[in-house]
Amino acid sequence: MSEPVGEAKLEVKQASKEVKESENVAEKYSAMTVSKNSEITMGELSTVFSAVPTHKPVKKQIQFVEDKQEFSRFPTKAGRRSLSRSISQSSTDSYSSAASYTDSSDDETSPRDKTQVNSKGSSDFCVKNIKQAEFGRREIEIAEQDMSALISLRKRAQSEKPLAGAKIVGCTHITAQTAVLIETLVALGAQCRWTACNIYSTQNEVAAALSETGVAVFAWKGESEDDFWWCIDHCINTEGWQPNMILDDGGDLTHWMYKKYPNVFKKIRGIVEESVTGVHRLYQLSKAGKLCVPAMNVNDSVTKQKFDNLYCCRESILDGLKRTTDVMFGGKQVVVCGYGEVGKGCCAALKALGAIVYVTEIDPICALQACMDGFRVVKLNEVIRQVDVIITCTGNKNVVTRDQLDRMKNGCIVCNMGHSNTEIDVASLRTPELTWERVRSQVDHVIWPDGKRIILLAEGRLLNLSCSTVPTFVLSITATTQALALIELYNAPEGRYKQDVYLLPKKMDEYVASLHLATFDAHLTELSDEQAKYLGLNKNGPFKPNYYRY
Ligand code: NAD
Repeated sequence: MSEPVGEAKLEVKQASKEVKESENVAEKYSAMTVSKNSEITMGELSTVFSAVPTHKPVKKQIQFVEDKQEFSRFPTKAGRRSLSRSISQSSTDSYSSAASYTDSSDDETSPRDKTQVNSKGSSDFCVKNIKQAEFGRREIEIAEQDMSALISLRKRAQSEKPLAGAKIVGCTHITAQTAVLIETLVALGAQCRWTACNIYSTQNEVAAALSETGVAVFAWKGESEDDFWWCIDHCINTEGWQPNMILDDGGDLTHWMYKKYPNVFKKIRGIVEESVTGVHRLYQLSKAGKLCVPAMNVNDSVTKQKFDNLYCCRESILDGLKRTTDVMFGGKQVVVCGYGEVGKGCCAALKALGAIVYVTEIDPICALQACMDGFRVVKLNEVIRQVDVIITCTGNKNVVTRDQLDRMKNGCIVCNMGHSNTEIDVASLRTPELTWERVRSQVDHVIWPDGKRIILLAEGRLLNLSCSTVPTFVLSITATTQALALIELYNAPEGRYKQDVYLLPKKMDEYVASLHLATFDAHLTELSDEQAKYLGLNKNGPFKPNYYRY
């Protein structure tokens, strides 16, 4: 089975033997009742992991187009002047500008040039303004309201402190939702130092609130690329504190540590990685035989892919478009490029508001799904002159070319929902004959000599995360998965995980889902003994084989 993801081709080999083993070990779960999740203790939780085949990570073979390039871009010395100006693709994607009340506007001083102290006398952090901590706390409190499953995990496990002694360095978007995750990790016993995986995504007041409580945060909205690496370096490199776990989104921190602090890296017990990009980089290391630490690929967990990608985008595509353009969707002609998880979410939302939706696809299976869902599957060139909105969601590059941009009708809205700003050929629009006019934050008119203009959103970076916020509840699902992956890697007995990249067991996905069912007062049907026997399942799961596609 081979699936293109971004520029890399990912080949997942799931031997049937492996699946069989996983089904057999399901018998061991009989003591555990996931549907009655309130009764689960951390001890029971550990059985979820110990019962899965541990010496057989799901092997992914992957061709990396940019092999080696990733590393050669890293500088050799740390320090403000010597740090690289370059930055990975994942890091430059803009994110969440609408979410922060504390844009850099009034205070131009770089946080690196300020001395700040929190109320406990600590200055081990670098944020925009520590005085914004109270505002940040309120933001975190709002997020907590829709992250009840994560909070319940926090409450349930905090007496057992499964992360006692864990020293976690994290590199993620620093938002209110991430703060709830970080504070959960702290409640479970971890010490945390945190930095941002994106130069635009930090909510300054949230970073301040975390720093006020003692989490060493190095991040602010609008960092330069130099600041970005400086923050990562300060997060890792501090006297008398050696990290033993990594939580990464994009792989920048992981690779910085690998390159610059190999001795620290070797002592890491586990890496948890959330993003497509970061996971690719881990497989790249693994393939080169250089991964000396076990890692969990959270990106490919069902509870991430089928929820974050699909439902998050279904909920946020309209928000991003409305905030930036005030467009009315009823009767508008929209083309969505790519009918994967993200494309399906976007199409469903647009259809519901009365838009006429076209889909482009390269994959006949996804194309057929689009047809069955009632969408016209077309080539982009067939509709390019008539559509009002173009949305890319392929994870690919040059999906919308300059030639196509030239042929769009006046007023066409062009935007991207994929991870990287590679899908629309924005660079080709930066030529002297075209005029760029900033309309609003993240909204540009690009004007042709004959007066035709298109509306380009977020300069082709991912729309929802650049121009709106994303739904907290979905992030709770991903954050819970991340927390459990950290607990597992940190507590796993020696030998359970080798130096490889692992997927979370199916049972764990089911557990995360069950925690979130409580929000909806959803009542699961329990298998009778007879039914379980008939289906060949354990009554308590896992309920599907690994190859099940949902
Ligand atoms: P996916 O692999 O499920 O879907 C991508 C689809 O695009 C595939 O069906 C593929 O066949 C199709 N495709 C590839 N090249 C194409 C082309 N030239 N023209 C038309 N179709 C093409 O991936 P996904 O989960 O839908 O994610 C898509 C992108 O969105 C990724 O970059 C991912 O990282 C990103 N993402 C964004 C968000 C967000 O909140 N904006 C959330 C999750 C994922």
